[in-house]
Amino acid sequence: MHPETLALYQSRMADANAGAVVPPLSLSTTFERAADGSFPHGHIYGRTSNPNRDLLETTLAALEGGFAGLAFSSGQAATMTLLLGLRPGDHVIIPDNAYHGTPALLEELFHPWGLTYTRADFTNLADIQASIHENTRLIWIETPSNPLLKIADIQAIADLAHQAGAWCACDNTWATPILQRPLELGCDVVMHSTTKYIGGHSDVLSGALVFREDGELYQRVRRFQLLGGAIAAPFDCWLLLRGIKTLTTRVRAQSATAFQLAEFLDRHPAVEAVHYPGLESHPGYEIAQNQMAMFGAMLSVQIKDGAEAAMAVAGHVRLFTRATSLGGVESLIEHRASVEGPNTATPQNLLRISVGLEHADDLIADLEQALVYAKPL
Ligand SMILES: *Cc1c(COP(=O)(O)O)cnc(C)c1O
Repeated sequence: MHPETLALYQSRMADANAGAVVPPLSLSTTFERAADGSFPHGHIYGRTSNPNRDLLETTLAALEGGFAGLAFSSGQAATMTLLLGLRPGDHVIIPDNAYHGTPALLEELFHPWGLTYTRADFTNLADIQASIHENTRLIWIETPSNPLLKIADIQAIADLAHQAGAWCACDNTWATPILQRPLELGCDVVMHSTTKYIGGHSDVLSGALVFREDGELYQRVRRFQLLGGAIAAPFDCWLLLRGIKTLTTRVRAQSATAFQLAEFLDRHPAVEAVHYPGLESHPGYEIAQNQMAMFGAMLSVQIKDGAEAAMAVAGHVRLFTRATSLGGVESLIEHRASVEGPNTATPQNLLRISVGLEHADDLIADLEQALVYAKPL
């Protein structure tokens, strides 16, 4: 099945009570036992499983081409629970450019717990290879990366990981399974902040993992999802399943518009650099073309004349909303360095843009009038 069909087919749930076409929201935290003590419907307690969460997990697994999915209360809860599946003494390799919460978890929570980690340049296989130690158990990819949209070669890195006896995970939040399917390229686990494109409407905070196969890592992480309890709530699952129905169409439309914005910005005299893997000048263009169906709806732009000029542009947009996060139907713009805090390596003149479902011409017109303010008056 094609992804748009699969999304609709998988997210159905037969409702024996009323024949409802939309899956009923199941809020009950506990489920009735039969007289013989068994659980005829397969559910015991809401932390263990819930009908809405089951449906979301199987739908996500089908979209990513995996064996099973696990839904969490946030993207960070998904990452944290996956890392708990490792053991003290293990070593992790992550990209030098990654969502800032990933190294923060490793540094502040898992380093004292006994995990070590190395940050490598994921556009350079030799740099990853050189970072592999005897105890390396996980290589964590994020592509396109946040916020510089660096492109990592998923298949090559998964091969490196497996040669070293390590698992390979990919944060697929920015690409979504519609554009990129890391499990098919050899990864063992895919992570999503489903808060972003999968929810798609900026109204649900959640995360997910999808595993390629059953095994030690999946069994440990599933157990820690149950024990730790950072599960996605029933209504969050219900909202995510609603978002999934339009995921393919949204992501394709948003990516097509982002491409137009990237080309417009690339030609603009007030712009120092555009980071978008769909531009032929992007160093990751060829890899992106091989492993992605389209180039995504995220881009970042560096404004000439520095941080103040970038702030001035963000300060004068009318259609874009100045806010963090991404993947919703409304376009957002943010000065990324100030969101990441004082220790950030993100350039101070960088604006990160999440392209929504507005018409490309209207978004370009808005940027055009705002970019006038990049130059001192
Ligand atoms: C937002 C985001 C996360 C964190 O997810 P939350 O749902 O905010 O916990 C992780 N990775 C990427 C790439 C993200 O964009």
